[in-house]
Amino acid sequence: MPPPLPITTRFAPSPTGPLHLGSAYAALFAWTQARQAEGRFLLRIEDIDPARCRPEYTAALIDDLTWLGLDWDNGIRTQSQHFPEYRRTLDHLAQAGLLYPCFCTRADIANATTAPQGPDGPIYPGTCRRLDPAQAQDRVAQGEHHALRLELDQALHQTGPLTWHEQGEGPLPCRPEAFGDPVLARKDTPASYHLCVTHDDAIQAVTLVTRGDDLRPATSLHRLLQTLMNWPEPAYAHHPLLRDPAGQRLAKRTKAPRCANPASPPKAFAPAWASTKGPSEVKRSDDWL
Ligand SMILES: [Zn+2]
Repeated sequence: MPPPLPITTRFAPSPTGPLHLGSAYAALFAWTQARQAEGRFLLRIEDIDPARCRPEYTAALIDDLTWLGLDWDNGIRTQSQHFPEYRRTLDHLAQAGLLYPCFCTRADIANATTAPQGPDGPIYPGTCRRLDPAQAQDRVAQGEHHALRLELDQALHQTGPLTWHEQGEGPLPCRPEAFGDPVLARKDTPASYHLCVTHDDAIQAVTLVTRGDDLRPATSLHRLLQTLMNWPEPAYAHHPLLRDPAGQRLAKRTKAPRCANPASPPKAFAPAWASTKGPSEVKRSDDWL
């Protein structure tokens, strides 16, 4: 038997703004899980969306994490440098007969009166799944804009029922049906978040995926992709999201303030935080800032 892998966690921000308190908490959570177990902590920049991500924000994120006193192992992985790898994953799924082109616009789907809401928005009604395959390929060959969707029923037929392991809770049933047929690639973003994150967790040998509770539903879909690709299964630890005194989630879109104050000297408090407090003891942001 191969020796067991060391616990490996990662922090994987998108560089769409400076590091706010909610993201800092997520980073500290992942870092602490790894460091307390003498494992590895990785930093990954998830910059697959060129319309929203900027290099200057990547630089600011690295500055702010350093200011917090966090360190990471290995080099920083930057997703935008790895599109050929994601393409190979898409090719593998296509060869298994699990992808189909979808020519619908977002407005088409939003206007479909029968579309219920899923974790990523309206559930796709399956319009293009029913197109004649030869005609669909002709439209692709002619350069018509399209997305690639996973044919969920076929995928689940291959994998059978799945579970995921939540730290402290044990195995939980996967329910990827909530997503409908998810988009795995589109013209402006040639690989989706779901595809890239599962690919990278696998090749970076991440053993414990830590992230906010808002991503808990996505775990079902991630386990499905991992199984289809024969990738290892990590454990998961979802943590609560930090909220402001009004109860609003701290997020870039709610203009949560930058956590670091470049005008003050680095705090370097993270090592002390890891040795004296567990994440469950952190109730308010000012408990540790
Ligand atoms: Zn479609």
